Order: sequence, then C-alpha cells, then structure tokens
Amino acid sequence: MSKRKFVTLALLVIVVTGAVWWYAYLKLHQTELEISERDIAEKIGLIGKVAITILYDNNPYDQRLKTAWGFSCLIDTMETKILFDTGRDSNILLGNIAKLGIDVRGIQIVVLSHIHEDHVGGLFGILEKNSYVKVYVPLSFTDSFKLRVKQYGCEIVDVGEAANICEGVATTGELGIGIKEQSLIVNTWKGLVVITGCAHPGIVNIVRKAKQLIGEVIYLVIGGFHLGGASEDEISSIIEQLKSLGVAEVAPCHCTGDLARRMFEEAFGENYVEAGVGRIIDIQQPPYDLTISISATISSDANRPKLRDEFHTNSDSLNLNGNI
Ligand SMILES: [Zn+2]
Ligand SMILES: [Zn+2]
Repeated sequence: MSKRKFVTLALLVIVVTGAVWWYAYLKLHQTELEISERDIAEKIGLIGKVAITILYDNNPYDQRLKTAWGFSCLIDTMETKILFDTGRDSNILLGNIAKLGIDVRGIQIVVLSHIHEDHVGGLFGILEKNSYVKVYVPLSFTDSFKLRVKQYGCEIVDVGEAANICEGVATTGELGIGIKEQSLIVNTWKGLVVITGCAHPGIVNIVRKAKQLIGEVIYLVIGGFHLGGASEDEISSIIEQLKSLGVAEVAPCHCTGDLARRMFEEAFGENYVEAGVGRIIDIQQPPYDLTISISATISSDANRPKLRDEFHTNSDSLNLNGNI
C-alpha cells in the first residue's frame, strides 16, 4: 500500500469513528431528554379550578383599566398565584392590579417569558411591593438582570429545559434560536391551557411542544401570537396547523396583530375568546370528582378521565366568563 493510500484510509477511519461517536452521543442525550420530559407529564398534576386574568395588554377589554403595549397575566390555581410577565410600566401594571382588587403580596411565583422590555419592565415595581417570590427566567437572561432580581432577596430559577413549576403548571423550557422564550402550560381538567408572551419561537412550535410534553388535548391558547407582520397566507397556514394540533379555543392578544385576530375570530367562531386587559378566563370546578377520576385513570391505563373529552366536546361546559 502506498503512503498516500494509507493516509487516505487512516483519515477515513478517523472520520467514520468520529461520526459514530457523535451519533451515539446525540442518541444518549436524546434519551436523557425524553426521560426527563416524560417525568413532566407524570408529575404535573391536574387542576380543577383556575382563573387567568389579563393584567396588562394593548387591547382594551375592561374599560376601567389602562391599555399599554406589553403583556402580563395572573394565573390563580387556588393554591398558587403566578404572575406571568409584567408589562413594560410598573405603574400601569400596579394600577390595573389595584383596580381589579388583587393583592400583589399574594403572588408567590413570577415567570418571565423573554427579555423584551414590554414583558419584564414592570418586574421591579412588583418586587418593591412583594419580594417574597420565586422568579423563573430563561437561562439566557443576562447576569446583570439576574443580579438585580437577587438584590431584592428573591430566589431566581434559571429555566433551560421544560420543567414543572407547581401543581398543574409547567414551563415549556427555553425555546427558539433567536429570542429565547418560555411559555406556560396549565394542565386543567378541560385540557391544556398554553400561555405565551410574544411567541417568538413560533406559536405552532410552542403548542406542539406543550402537546409533546403532556400529551393532552389543547383546550386554550392565550397570549401574544406574534403575527403583526404576517401575511394572510401565513396566518391561514398557522390557523390550520393549530387546528390540526387539536387547539379548541384561542384568545390571541398583545402582538398577535389586528389582521390575525380577525382571521382567528372568523376561523374559530364561538371558540374565539376576545382577549384584552381585564379579561378573566375562569375555569370552574369539574362536575365530577377529580380524585376518583384520576385514580380511575391510573388503573385503566388511560391518560386522563374519559369524562374530560366528553365535556370538552360539549361547548356548554366551556366556561369562559368575562368580568363585565
Ligand atoms: Zn418580544
Ligand atoms: Zn411583546
């Protein structure tokens, strides 16, 4: 064998060995991820009653409240109060909170979707009033931002991968390749409620991730869908994709855009939920015993009580109550 052939063969062996090693590494990594993601579905827990109140939005709803560009909502699971995003201006946020009769000191957890000012700007005004909160931020947030939060004495939680936050609530983990963003998943007896800030990673990708993590019907998607600059064709395609993922109801607001909101309203009809500042989405207790259903679920090897799907298809039971 000539020296040249020997070198070529040696290089080939090195490349093939490297490729096999890299493939094995990726496979191993993937398995680890699947195991931890399966844990989320098993351990998330199911919520019987939850109220989601939009505290900050550029769309009006409750005329007593101020509108401004940004997003914030409160998720009250009756056990835990989670503030998701904080709008841009803490005075507007705190003013709206006060008009709704909500006690800021009752908030236990703050989740920030992404670093944009219209989602994190109101945080420090909240921490001035209540620093006894755990603050969940995407891992990619700057050290200086995290340090500023820690100076209030708050516990800060870096979110990389998907994780459970409290009973019935999980984060999708940090998604996206440009602007990193996390969204919330609330596991209610009616199905999953997916809550987005700006949906920079793509609303379809976020919903798909939620479904992949918990494996349940998607009852409602609420928040900014980030379709302000999207064409009619793009919006139609997104509506189709969300429908094929089984999304039952939508409540698009914030950066969704007027055209997209109109198209969603047309496509979802009575399952379109008008969202704006002050809107309360109130999911009431199920008309059956959740604990019995959950134990029946475990023994029958089904994912969830059969009743859940039956109620889900009955539009009378979809209890979305406005506050005016
Ligand atoms: Zn944004
Ligand atoms: Zn935004």
